[in-house]
Amino acid sequence: MNERVRQLNNAPASNGKYILYWAQVNRRVESNHALAFAADLANQRGLPLLFYEGLTCSYPFANDRFHTFMIEAVPETFRRLARMGIGYAFYPRRKPSDPNDVLYRLAAEAAAVVTDDFPTFLAGAYNARVPKKIRVPYYAVDSSCIVPMAHFVKQEWAAYTIRPKIRKVLAEHLRPVPPIRVAKRWTAPVPDFHVEPGDVAKLVASCEIDHSVPPSTEFRGGRKEAEKRLKKFVETNLRRYSRHKNEPSAHATSELSPYLHFGHISSLEIALAVKEYAAGHRLIADEFLEELIVRRELAFNFARLSKKLDSLDALPDWAQATLRKHDRDKRDPTYTCAQFERAVTHDALWNATQRELLRTGKIHGYYRMYWGKKIIEWSATHAGALAIMIYLHDKYALDGRDPNTYTNILWCFGLHDRPWFERPIFGLVRYMALSGMQRKTDVDAYIRENP
Ligand SMILES: Cc1cc2nc3c(=O)[nH]c(=O)nc-3n(C[C@H](O)[C@H](O)[C@H](O)COP(=O)(O)OP(=O)(O)OC[C@H]3O[C@@H](n4cnc5c(N)ncnc54)[C@H](O)[C@@H]3O)c2cc1C
Repeated sequence: MNERVRQLNNAPASNGKYILYWAQVNRRVESNHALAFAADLANQRGLPLLFYEGLTCSYPFANDRFHTFMIEAVPETFRRLARMGIGYAFYPRRKPSDPNDVLYRLAAEAAAVVTDDFPTFLAGAYNARVPKKIRVPYYAVDSSCIVPMAHFVKQEWAAYTIRPKIRKVLAEHLRPVPPIRVAKRWTAPVPDFHVEPGDVAKLVASCEIDHSVPPSTEFRGGRKEAEKRLKKFVETNLRRYSRHKNEPSAHATSELSPYLHFGHISSLEIALAVKEYAAGHRLIADEFLEELIVRRELAFNFARLSKKLDSLDALPDWAQATLRKHDRDKRDPTYTCAQFERAVTHDALWNATQRELLRTGKIHGYYRMYWGKKIIEWSATHAGALAIMIYLHDKYALDGRDPNTYTNILWCFGLHDRPWFERPIFGLVRYMALSGMQRKTDVDAYIRENP
């Protein structure tokens, strides 16, 4: 079996009416190794393929922002699958009393279940819990990383340790996923629980979820949006990226992280498009590919192999020791989680970063480091700071609940970094000052954009 695929139960091959692909994370048709694997199984067995996408009301922080983004993608997914002869079912579980067994009902008629291998949030938990309850083979396929996560057997120390390992095998993985062709088209009616999204806002309003977090003002979900942003990035921003990526008001980054998180686009497609454009226009895309491949896949490596993602115990020994030494240092000022959430600190730049998160569901990467470092500086304890950062991401970030989320939040506490110079509160952990932001970036322009 290939490096991307793991069978997570011991069920033997069995008969069934179709192969079921359960899109937990990679909610896309193109460039999806898991869907391609499911299509191969279907073709080998002479069966049709059914793509199932669920959306429950009961996961932590389910709110209008996440629901809207996911539902916006549904009609396009349906259209694309229909053209290919693949069945599609979408089931939004609107209230806790609605049936919660749709996956099991579908699996009971399937010859095999294929899903996404993803280390965090719901998919991580479901892939640990569900397979033993399924009587047919249950496969998890890694379609999130370019070099499969399974290629790295140990937790990597930092970017400099994973980089050479990625480089060694990158060429063999940097190849498009072959287009999917199903031999047997789906002809059965759509399952009766399927819901046509119709009016997205109306469907979202009918769900028992937190309606206090509004949809993003900036990001609309779906494959078309992701493709549009990728095109704009390669054609207008790639050439500016290395020079302006750390200047938030220059808007030179790709803004693709929400689409990557919800799987509307793959990092593989982005890397291929960027490389092709760079080659054709004599551009150097190394800095972008470093973020997209090395940094992102380092985050997946950590999320997959670390025992904990939400604890300071996951940090390297030097960081744990230095933070313990400084945990009782005096902080002045200190803010509560509610004050951070409402963006009411004394620091206009920090408040603007939080307002960007509240409004759009994302913070620019450079200021996001500053955002995290200041929460450490102004929280009563280090563990409290970690909890606040995770809470704010889980609740508001469209690219949150991702391997990148927990890994980068822990980066603020020293993960994948090196010791710096001793100072209060941070000990040897890297510090960031407002004066540095003022010197290196146009702070005023950014504050104006996030009033
Ligand atoms: C405290 C903190 C929290 C963060 N939380 C998240 C999060 O919840 N989700 C998330 O995707 N990223 C997170 N990041 C990493 C980074 O800030 C975002 O990936 C980036 O800002 C996304 O914007 P972009 O798509 O325009 O990035 P680009 O600069 O266009 O980069 C393209 C892609 O490369 C990847 N990438 C870029 N920077 C990093 C990085 N430092 N580490 C890993 N991958 C990277 C992302 O997938 C990104 O979409 C966090 C960083 C910090 C410091």
